[in-house]
Amino acid sequence: MSCDVNWDRGISVVGHQLWLDPQVVRELAFVSHAHSDHARRHRRALLTEPTLSLLSKHRRPHDVEVVPVGQTVVVDGARVTLFDAGHMLGSAMLLFQQPGRSLLYTGDMKLRHPAGLSTPVPQAQALVMESTYGLPHFRFPEPDSVVLELALWCRQAIAAGATPVILAHALGKAQEVMLLLGRLGFRFALEERCLPFARGYEAAGVKLPEWAELSQVEERLEDRVVLLPPAGKQALKRLARYRTALVSGWAKDPQFSRLFGADRCFPLSDHCDFDELLDVVRLSGAEQVYTVHGYADELARHLRRRGVRAHALARTEQLALAI
Ligand SMILES: [Zn+2]
Repeated sequence: MSCDVNWDRGISVVGHQLWLDPQVVRELAFVSHAHSDHARRHRRALLTEPTLSLLSKHRRPHDVEVVPVGQTVVVDGARVTLFDAGHMLGSAMLLFQQPGRSLLYTGDMKLRHPAGLSTPVPQAQALVMESTYGLPHFRFPEPDSVVLELALWCRQAIAAGATPVILAHALGKAQEVMLLLGRLGFRFALEERCLPFARGYEAAGVKLPEWAELSQVEERLEDRVVLLPPAGKQALKRLARYRTALVSGWAKDPQFSRLFGADRCFPLSDHCDFDELLDVVRLSGAEQVYTVHGYADELARHLRRRGVRAHALARTEQLALAI
C-alpha cells in the first residue's frame, strides 16, 4: 500500500482509474509494449501505434487510444505523456501528472544503446521501475563491443562450415539482433516463431536486413545466420552443422545460461542492467521508488541502503518472458 500506487495483479494509480500493464482485464489500462506478459484485452487502453500493430488480434484492447511518443493527452483530469522506453519497437514509459504529484512508470526499459545512444529519462516525484536485472552481478558490457564479438563468432562459425544459430526472444530481441548484425553485412533465416514479428516490424515501417523463412532455405543456408527463440530448438535437428549462441542479459547468470545449453552466451539485453537501473533512479530525481518484476525486493533493498525511499511492489519472476 502506498500513496502513489497499489499492486493487484498490475499497478493501479491511487485516486485514478488508470492501471499500468495490468495482468488481468481492466477498464482503463496503459500497455507499455507488445510482449505478451504486458498485453490483455482491456476495455480501453492507451498505447503507441507500433505496440498496437505488434499485438496479436486476441490481445488487442476493445477500445484503443493511440498516444504518440512525446505528446501529452488528458485522461480523466490527469496529464499523461509517453516517452520512448528503448526496450523494443513501440515500448513507452508513461509520465502521469496531476496538480501536486507526478509519477513515472518505466515498463520494460533500456538506457544504453549501440553508438553511445541513451534513452532520456523524464523527472518525476515518484518512479515505478522495472527491476528485471536488479542484482549487482547483472552488469553488461557496452552494447557495441558485444555486437562486434557476436559478429566475430558468426563469421568464425561460417568459416568453419557451421551455421551460426542465435537463440533470442522472437519479438523485439530477434529484430534488434537482425538490425545490428545486418549493418555488418549478415543475412538471416528465421524460424517460424520469428516470422509474424519480423513482418510486424516491417509493417510498422522498420526496414529489416535480408531474411528468409528457415523452412524454405534450410537445404541451402549458405552464410545465413539462423534466428530462433529458445523454445524452437527442435528446428535445429534438421540442420547439418551448427553452433548456438544465447543472446540475453541472462548470459550474466551462469546457472541460467547453462540451462539453455548454448555453445556461447552474449550479454546483449533489451533491459537495463544493474547500473542502468541505478542511473534511471538518479536521472528521474524521484523521491519515492517502487520496483516491479524480477529482483524487485533485492533492488529496493539496495536502493534503501543508498538512502533512497524504495519499496518492491510485487515479486513476479518471469524469466522465460524476459529473455
Ligand atoms: Zn518486455
